[in-house]
Amino acid sequence: MPQENQTIEGLDPAVTLAQAAGLAEHLQRIGVQWLPVADPDSAAALAEQLRFADGGSPEQGSEPASELASAPPAVSPPTAPPAAAPPPATAAVAGSAGAVPPSPAGTAPAFSLQSDSADPTEPYPGPSLAPDARAAELAKCSEQVAACTRCEILSQCRTKTVFGEGNVAPRVVFFGEGPGREEDLSGRPFVGKAGQLLTKMIGACKFAREDVYIMNTVKCRPPNNRNPEPTEIENCREFFQAQFEILRPEYIVCLGLVSAQALLCTKLSVGRLRGKFHQYFDSKVLVTYHPSYLLRNPAAKKAAWDDLQLMLRDAGLM
Ligand code: SF4
Repeated sequence: MPQENQTIEGLDPAVTLAQAAGLAEHLQRIGVQWLPVADPDSAAALAEQLRFADGGSPEQGSEPASELASAPPAVSPPTAPPAAAPPPATAAVAGSAGAVPPSPAGTAPAFSLQSDSADPTEPYPGPSLAPDARAAELAKCSEQVAACTRCEILSQCRTKTVFGEGNVAPRVVFFGEGPGREEDLSGRPFVGKAGQLLTKMIGACKFAREDVYIMNTVKCRPPNNRNPEPTEIENCREFFQAQFEILRPEYIVCLGLVSAQALLCTKLSVGRLRGKFHQYFDSKVLVTYHPSYLLRNPAAKKAAWDDLQLMLRDAGLM
């Protein structure tokens, strides 16, 4: 810790302050109680304590420290509340998936679920769990998924369900569409060619795959890699909502149209949704292109990188 009036050479005060505030917020989110709240007052106090260059004044061209903490990029609340449909286990649905069978007796979810009345503009309901408890809840949820037959076609076609994997206390969750052939065979998300590109995208963010959590909207492979039907997404909503409620990431990166529209309950295009933050409970949601799309349209990679940089800047990671 520097002494009074001592500056820290080689550090960008703005970047360091944003990183400190982001770290504090993340640790608080995963249940670490002793850190100061990452609010403007705490951030300003931190800046004062550290006595950055110019005795606490921001460098030329940078924003004031207090504004860094208090003025994050604009966050759009969800355009509509989460679907008010009844829980998938009892909902009557139309379409190729047919009516949803009730949950088998004795298989009621052991994990906590968001209620239909939960307001996605509010913080996640209930307390944040410690990592061990999160892992246990996710394991229970994964068992439910493995036994799930709500989608008649998908449950008959799948080889393995693909629940998701990664850090159970992540800053970032990457949220895709559904398993492909490789994922169906392995039971792991994003392990095919698109997965290799996603791994590179994660690496470009200076993360390892193990640092983040990766999951899909539907947990079973649609035949011939077709898009999941709306009814299938609704059938699986209970599961991905539970995952987010357990994980409570700081950021959710929606990869492609299906996951973005499912999470944000919108019909807008990726082009309309990307380039800004949306809100899902107290997670900031970023929408970008799916790696499969980027493989087919390499020219869109720059736009995807721009999206990720938006998150990295907001997180104080660049
Ligand atoms: S996609 Fe989801 S809801 Fe449908 S059968 Fe698979 S796990 Fe169940």
